[in-house]
Amino acid sequence: MSNAPRAATARSVADTTSASTGGKLIALTFDDGPRPYVLFGSKESNRGPGLVDILDQNGVKATFFVVGWRLTPKTWGEPKHEEDIGVSCLDAAERLIGRGHELEDHTYSHLELRSAEKKNGEQWVMHDVDRGAQAIKAVTGTQPRYVRPPDWILTDDARRDLQKQGYRVLTISSENPMALRDVNSLDYLCAGKAVGCPKPSLPDAVLQQIEQREKRGTYTHILAFHELSTTAAIMPKLISDLKARGYRFVTLTEYMNLVESKPGETVKQTAAVTKPASVAGLSR
Ligand SMILES: [Zn+2]
Repeated sequence: MSNAPRAATARSVADTTSASTGGKLIALTFDDGPRPYVLFGSKESNRGPGLVDILDQNGVKATFFVVGWRLTPKTWGEPKHEEDIGVSCLDAAERLIGRGHELEDHTYSHLELRSAEKKNGEQWVMHDVDRGAQAIKAVTGTQPRYVRPPDWILTDDARRDLQKQGYRVLTISSENPMALRDVNSLDYLCAGKAVGCPKPSLPDAVLQQIEQREKRGTYTHILAFHELSTTAAIMPKLISDLKARGYRFVTLTEYMNLVESKPGETVKQTAAVTKPASVAGLSR
């Protein structure tokens, strides 16, 4: 995104997009994979279908912010936490592409980048993002354009330098127009012991966030989820609820093409958003 001074205009991104495309848009995104057992279903009989099958059944193309280290041969995930279903992460990535989904960059290491920069310097951070991008390019043949830093944490300097190199850095910062800010689903709080899972339920909490954005005139949303079995399980209901509200599902590239290129992308929204600090260290 350009940092050039922006002329004042009366229209927001959202107003413009809804008006010109008739578009209520959702870009579904999933971080931290590929996790084959989430994507293609656990072998344990009590588990539901895989996330990719759910997306396919609903005609939804999504965007996966994958972690570079997984895209090396014979990598099956984290052995302690993740079930091995006999599909490597690399195979899973290839299947995602084959089924029309998009892969974007969630770094190679998945380390929190502000701390990593303090320890290793900014060049390390740039290299970690690039290494993630190279791993994706080896699968897809194209350079990924979007980066979501783990927990959205990144120094201003590193953000600026990544943007100079052509990356678009996803953010939850209120400095960006609302339509270009990630909606933090908080789905990681529903994994494991689920102690902090939003009430009354994760899909309802996400819908509430969307309703609040609609009240401010924003009808396009980038939803940030993780590759988790608990998240896959809520997708059928969430997708059908959103479709019933008139939303169309697109990949992040399609989303940005539709939302960002519109002339109204100038209004600086002032609404409060979740502070990055509140999610630090929680998502994995
Ligand atoms: Zn992550």
